Amino acid sequence: MYTNRLKAVFKEFYINEPMKNHTSFKTGGEADVYVKADSAENIIKAVDILKEENIDYIIIGNGSNLLVSDKGFKGVVIEIGSLMNKITVEGRKIYAQAGALLSSLSAAAADNGLTGLEFASGIPGSVGGAVFMNAGAYDGEIKDVIIGADVINKNGEIIRLSKDELELSYRSSVIEKKGYIVIGAEFELKEGSKEAIKEKMADFAARRRDKQPLNYPSAGSTFKRPEGYFAGKLIEDSGLKGKTIGGAQVSEKHAGFIINTGNATSSDILELMDCCIETVYNKFGVRLEPEVRFIGNK
Ligand code: FAD
Repeated sequence: MYTNRLKAVFKEFYINEPMKNHTSFKTGGEADVYVKADSAENIIKAVDILKEENIDYIIIGNGSNLLVSDKGFKGVVIEIGSLMNKITVEGRKIYAQAGALLSSLSAAAADNGLTGLEFASGIPGSVGGAVFMNAGAYDGEIKDVIIGADVINKNGEIIRLSKDELELSYRSSVIEKKGYIVIGAEFELKEGSKEAIKEKMADFAARRRDKQPLNYPSAGSTFKRPEGYFAGKLIEDSGLKGKTIGGAQVSEKHAGFIINTGNATSSDILELMDCCIETVYNKFGVRLEPEVRFIGNK
């Protein structure tokens, strides 16, 4: 059985684990198996076993951009999170393991008087998820500050990718295309005044609190920004602000966010996303593309 082989690799190993406990939307059925990675070597071992046994697997970070099917995930979810979250600062360079939170990374930069990562302080993802998505906000994105990332390739080798090799563009990178697993990333920042850095972070946080429905579960912006438009504005101008299906709602505060008002299922959220896509397309001829990543079978 592959489960016995995996159990020998991971200290944190769970069977039939509810994914709603691992996604910021707080929805989703069970993963057959859920493990927390504690080293690159163990991830390589696990992937070897799973390939040999023909079992599907996915990598997740902090689950803040995921919509997992109500039917769950048939296979193994490998979390790269709190057991791989070391951050090391050396001069103007910071190395972070993939499981480190962006909030911790930005805080480490601020504490060391390094500027450039203020934009990331309010994004609730991990470094791995942020590289995968080329996460960004306000005046910055990962692309502006990263100098390289260490990834596991399809042959189970750890390789270093330069910034150019990461092919970072709007909410996209080479990681998905090549099926890489990010295990760490290196950033280069500029020296700055600690006070100014912290002030900027506080300003961004206040702007988020003011504009975003942070008191409800969500995955942030549901859709990517279509060129020349704002998804939230298109949804609002289509009359969908507050539109509710089951427990899912187009936020009254920010129409770019779909929120879980308490008892939403992933199907409710998907149905509401489809409704937004169709309504906006019929009204404006613009096809919204989800930013949120769907996992499992619909
Ligand atoms: P997950 O959601 O766990 O995964 C996202 C994708 O990355 C998945 O496809 C997963 O397979 C892949 N992945 C994760 N880790 C790895 C890894 N180590 N190796 C390979 N693949 C991996 N995003 C922004 O860009 N800007 C924002 O301002 C922003 N604001 C948000 C506000 C709120 C309230 C919320 C809930 C979300 C927001 N997001 C924002 C979305 C989200 O936080 C980012 O997309 C973040 O980068 C996702 O990181 P994660 O670790 O949670 O990834």
